[in-house]
Amino acid sequence: MKSLVFVTNNKHKIEEIQFLAQNKLNIISLKDVKFYEQIPENKPSIEENALFKAQYFYNKTGLNCFADDTGLEVFALNGLPGVKSARFVSDHDCLKNLQHVLKLMQGKKDRKARFRTVIALIIENKEYIFEGIVNGYITTEPLGNNGFGYDSIFIPEGDNRTFAQMSLKEKSKYSHRQRAFTKLINFLSNHFS
Ligand code: IMP
Repeated sequence: MKSLVFVTNNKHKIEEIQFLAQNKLNIISLKDVKFYEQIPENKPSIEENALFKAQYFYNKTGLNCFADDTGLEVFALNGLPGVKSARFVSDHDCLKNLQHVLKLMQGKKDRKARFRTVIALIIENKEYIFEGIVNGYITTEPLGNNGFGYDSIFIPEGDNRTFAQMSLKEKSKYSHRQRAFTKLINFLSNHFS
């Protein structure tokens, strides 16, 4: 089975992707390959961040890899927090960031939002991009304890629970990351099996 490094330190993301990959791919983490550098994430778009992370790692190691970058895009906030999702008001403080979204959304009728994930894959020095989107709504308060990030304030279309009220399996049915990752797996099985 082929191995691919997932360029992230987020253990939730690794868990989600390993769950999705099941026995189709061997996904290994930065820790597995003893890569401990902090990779900057300060590009102006989700696409550029994903590509930069993958390129940074590939240029240093030559190992086939992929990186993802995700943003919560709220329509009534003109797409914010978007590429700033991890650092909206506080660097990687999920609670403060989601509370800020709720504050900005107070009294707003239009609660439409989406999660968008972009995956950048580098295999044998060639770059590929895959996108996954899930549409949904922002709640008026946090609900549920599972997951991470903005999961507790996002209800995907087709359900009435937030991602944080779902099991990993249930979230995977809708998840933006799952949708991008399915494209990645299909691509790999058509081109590199
Ligand atoms: P990243 O740059 O891809 O790590 O994502 C930016 C931020 O988006 C993270 O810090 C999380 O707060 C949030 N995020 C990413 N993926 C998810 C998800 O699946 N659910 C909820 N929040 C997420």
